[in-house]
Amino acid sequence: MKSLIAQQHDLSHPKRQIDVINNHSEKVKSFEKFESKMEEAGLYPLKPTGIEIFQINVGYMCNMTCKHCHVDAGPDREEIMTHETLEQCLEALDHPEIKTVDLTGGAPEMNPHFRWFVDEVSKLGKEIIVRSNLTILDTRKFEDLPQFMADRGVEITCSLPFYSKRRTDAQRGEGTYDKSMKVLKVLNEIGYGKEETGLLLNLVYNPVGAFLPPDQGSLKQQYKDRLWSDHGIVFNDLFTITNLPISRYLNFLVMSGNLEEYMEKLITSFNPGAAQGVMCRNTISIGWDGSLYDCDFNQMLQMKTNHGAPSHISEWNLEKLNSREIILNQHCYGCTAGAGSSCGGATT
Ligand code: SF4
Ligand code: SF4
Repeated sequence: MKSLIAQQHDLSHPKRQIDVINNHSEKVKSFEKFESKMEEAGLYPLKPTGIEIFQINVGYMCNMTCKHCHVDAGPDREEIMTHETLEQCLEALDHPEIKTVDLTGGAPEMNPHFRWFVDEVSKLGKEIIVRSNLTILDTRKFEDLPQFMADRGVEITCSLPFYSKRRTDAQRGEGTYDKSMKVLKVLNEIGYGKEETGLLLNLVYNPVGAFLPPDQGSLKQQYKDRLWSDHGIVFNDLFTITNLPISRYLNFLVMSGNLEEYMEKLITSFNPGAAQGVMCRNTISIGWDGSLYDCDFNQMLQMKTNHGAPSHISEWNLEKLNSREIILNQHCYGCTAGAGSSCGGATT
């Protein structure tokens, strides 16, 4: 079945997306190349600082179809990581340099091997992060997962576009806010988000429209105040993430006539300090089929690791990957604008 993007606009193919980001109009074509901006900042070619985070996209299937989704995930996506590929991941990540295993999707919980894999990674003593959309944990099939994750010390990082119902539901669909509040309360009840338990519960904010995220520290305080006063909910940290001009969000920018203005905003907000800390420097991204990428965004554009580095988990070679050259393009401006953006929030 065609993905949501394909139904809305002809941006379903990654090559077409890359073409749009680079050549959509004369103005877009005239924008300075990201590589030259990095060269001016003394960061080209961009090299890793070492692979500390092993981010695995275990599949594109999701119970939701959010407007901003860079994965174009949804219930009809059939790409799911197999047991065999997960075993190859386990073999590769069993190295002291790799400290953290970050599970993402789609809804990572929907991978049929999710529980087995979390158990295996936990035996290796790695820190585990699960990127949850919260609403999946409000279904009968997955309602026991919060306790399962708590028992294994899994850190939960979950999307909550805003602390108000209207803005959250506008981005993620009607009813999302109420379900999210219900699940956050369950997570709090079993100890998540409370300083004394060590069970980390982090929230992710991303803008609803074509603008950059506000200051992470002040927004975190606003979230803390409102979620506590309105619902008695606590959490540890808030990460602000800039929407990158790819996938469903690129479709929105093109359809709403905002692409040029948004790209211009990202480019004029280029921050060399933020560029130093882009997440591809300490992370490797593994796609559902075992392909290797510099980050989850490059994965969506099918820009595999290159320049002599292995491009599939079956050819894993830490030394070669540590000395690889990171593949860049115009979408990378989303990581270096303002305070910077990564899966762990601002980079400055
Ligand atoms: S919950 Fe996450 S993966 Fe699922 S559609 Fe929304 S943004 Fe995409
Ligand atoms: S989009 Fe990916 S490759 Fe580009 S700067 Fe961001 S993390 Fe690095």
